[in-house]
Amino acid sequence: MTKAVYPGSFDPITHGHCDLVERAARQFDQVVVAIANNINKQTMFTVDERVELAEKVLAHLPNVTVISVTGLIVDFTEQQGATAILRGLRAVSDFEFEFQLASMNRNLKPDIETLFMTPAEQYAYISSSLVKEVARFNGDVSMFLHPLVLERVKQKLAAQ
Ligand code: ADP
Repeated sequence: MTKAVYPGSFDPITHGHCDLVERAARQFDQVVVAIANNINKQTMFTVDERVELAEKVLAHLPNVTVISVTGLIVDFTEQQGATAILRGLRAVSDFEFEFQLASMNRNLKPDIETLFMTPAEQYAYISSSLVKEVARFNGDVSMFLHPLVLERVKQKLAAQ
């Protein structure tokens, strides 16, 4: 059985993330979306909210599960019995950080492979932070978010 872990903040999940998970779900028997519970990172949504949104958006994929994670992703990946960590590469600007991260993770656990995937072109320039920024100024981000996620972003902004 092939199993991969796709870690990230997913604050919130976008069509870019979803596109990657759909591609990965065709390549692996199981995909675990690992939502980082990183207390040092300021997020719009709590980890439970991020898990709930990702679960709903990815509900059509039977071989995908969503789990919140505290601690090292390589440890979580090993505990899950997975052999690969998936990361998305958008522009060249992602490369340097992702290269460092992959090298660090390989040092920590040499048996775990980091694999990179690129999204469909229409999602290659979006990130959760950019989408939130545009939404904050009432820009239309409906083409980048699931309607449920869009609604929840609007609720958060209205409550601020
Ligand atoms: P992190 O804080 O770990 O970067 P993110 O939720 O921002 O968490 O992203 C998780 C992963 O998904 C990262 O590998 C990131 O490069 C990738 N990713 C984010 N947005 C996109 C997108 N639009 N297309 C492809 N990959 C993406």
